[in-house]
Amino acid sequence: MIELKNIVKRFGDLTVLNDVSLSVAEGAVMALVGPSGGGKSTLLRCINLLEIPTSGSVEIAGDKLEFHPGARMSGKQVQLLRRHTGMVFQNFQLFPHRTVIENITEGLTTVLKWPKERARERAMALLEKVGLAHKAEVWPSTLSGGQQQRVAIARALAPSPKVLLCDEPTSALDPELSGEVVDVLAQLAREGTTMVMATHDLRLASKIANEVIVLDGGVIVETGTSRDIFTQPKRERTKRFIATLI
Ligand code: ADP
Ligand code: MG
Repeated sequence: MIELKNIVKRFGDLTVLNDVSLSVAEGAVMALVGPSGGGKSTLLRCINLLEIPTSGSVEIAGDKLEFHPGARMSGKQVQLLRRHTGMVFQNFQLFPHRTVIENITEGLTTVLKWPKERARERAMALLEKVGLAHKAEVWPSTLSGGQQQRVAIARALAPSPKVLLCDEPTSALDPELSGEVVDVLAQLAREGTTMVMATHDLRLASKIANEVIVLDGGVIVETGTSRDIFTQPKRERTKRFIATLI
């Protein structure tokens, strides 16, 4: 479903991703772990093309773009690939002046030009799925962090993206509240949603990731199942990093 080849991302002289290649099968869940500053967020942003890679190629659901330093990108192609992805952020990023249901319908009606009724039906179905149908008409600020993140997940899924990207989806939540978000993501994983998530949450990664990648200094330094990486990491540096999370 996702194929990244030789992704390099530079900001000026700083190389943040250095020749990253990975693939994620349809229905698989990949967790990105590693020290802060290792490039996890940048890699997610290169998958949804919020950042344009300096070089390399990104293929999602059969649509592929190659990047070359200095080359101009067609906005249309970038849009096409971007629409294959939905993104969930650490800090939810709900629209504060929209109700919960409007947070979900907004993109469908404005960007995708769906009729209002159809957008509302889709939003209600997703709110049911994340257990928040009864909160459809309230303001996001009245919800707990865990509830806000579940709305953000519903919003990301609204246009039926091929891939769900999550950037530390539980990092802003207390352990009790992160549990409900883990449960929703686990449910999506069981239903076959293809996901890539950056996370420090070992519970989340162990519960749902089929494959864990350790990103350190912009390169993939280790790859394995969550059991491999969390219980018997090969590199000394990975061992020390994992020890800080437990
Ligand atoms: P992580 O998510 O693993 O903590 P990031 O992808 O956020 O890592 O950051 C990787 C490196 O890229 C850091 O050194 C960060 O300062 C740098 N970086 C990220 N975004 C930018 C940017 N827009 N401009 C310059 N440097 C950036
Ligand atoms: Mg990050």
